[in-house]
Amino acid sequence: MSCDFLAQALPGVQKLSPYVPGKPVDELARELDLDPARIVKLASNENPLGPSLKVIEAIQAELKELTRYPDGNGFELKRALAEHYGIQASQITLGNGSNDILELVARAYLAPGLNAVFSQYAFAVYPLVTQAIGAEGRAVPAKSWGHDLDAMLGAIDQSTRIVFLANPNNPTGTWFGPEALAKFLQAVPEHILVVLDEAYIEYAEGNDLPDGMAYLAAHPNLLISRTFSKAYGLASLRVGYAISSVTIADVLNRVRQPFNVNSLALAAARAAMSDTDYLIQSRHANDHGMAQLEEGFRKLGLSWIPSKGNFIAVDFAQEAAPIYQALLQQGVIVRPVAGYGLPTFLRISIGTAEENTLCLEALAKVLSRG
Ligand SMILES: *Cc1c(COP(=O)(O)O)cnc(C)c1O
Repeated sequence: MSCDFLAQALPGVQKLSPYVPGKPVDELARELDLDPARIVKLASNENPLGPSLKVIEAIQAELKELTRYPDGNGFELKRALAEHYGIQASQITLGNGSNDILELVARAYLAPGLNAVFSQYAFAVYPLVTQAIGAEGRAVPAKSWGHDLDAMLGAIDQSTRIVFLANPNNPTGTWFGPEALAKFLQAVPEHILVVLDEAYIEYAEGNDLPDGMAYLAAHPNLLISRTFSKAYGLASLRVGYAISSVTIADVLNRVRQPFNVNSLALAAARAAMSDTDYLIQSRHANDHGMAQLEEGFRKLGLSWIPSKGNFIAVDFAQEAAPIYQALLQQGVIVRPVAGYGLPTFLRISIGTAEENTLCLEALAKVLSRG
């Protein structure tokens, strides 16, 4: 008889459900025999603008070096980030996407018998990395779909090592303001690592979302996680980063793979940082798209959770799975969030004006059939 290698896996791993990504365009095209060019994917919070031209040029220039290992220390990218934020390069940890950062943090600071605290409806990767390590994930009931920071403080105990905060949160789009963050950081025990995930922060300039960087100096237990996947438009290349104290960065750099960010990603990220116009354009397109979708939802009599991200969670007040399926038939891919405990919601990423229009038209069609 052969060995049961599921039973041999760590108990936490046996109970894991794999992360469910948005449906790829080509997959739907194959299933429905549709032209991929006619499919609208608003399922993975990707930047709808396509990559910056500076990024494409940087990648082309880098291609001839493909036989070589990338710079394992990411010197140039770290230098650019350090300059941009006015910090030391030694405070930076680069990741294969910011998902990598979240995993490194769990690997370095969690173990069986320890726990991490996060919010109900928070980003799925927090419970995933926590459970994979054999630690306990504590999901604290949400307040109005968002983080209940006081209750999260209350959930911390002797065995807590990490608190994960997403601001804004995915998939709900909810956020907390500067006062709430300051109060939380004052109250949280100093030995607890606070991971502030700001994957969407670039969309939120100049409004009431706190900039985590401003709190770093006063709180050595704070780690800020950011990514090039969203507003910078590099989701496919997998590059993100953490900014923390030098000590925490040193710890994370011990556990990461030596070449966790590839050379095309390093070059692309630097080019993306230099293209301020692209970032501004991304933000404007997002603001307009958000307004367009909200207006459309209003006309359709739908309600939604106000969002500071590049996506919006819409409440259909009925099981949303059939609506998701019907939208697929129309060539529109959105994201079911029943796995998050939100079975009446669908999460819709903000697309181009044209994509948003197609999405709203498909929704109108699907909903009118009842
Ligand atoms: C998209 C997202 C990330 C970024 O993931 P990458 O690995 O950087 O692509 C991180 N956190 C949240 C909350 C997200 O929604």
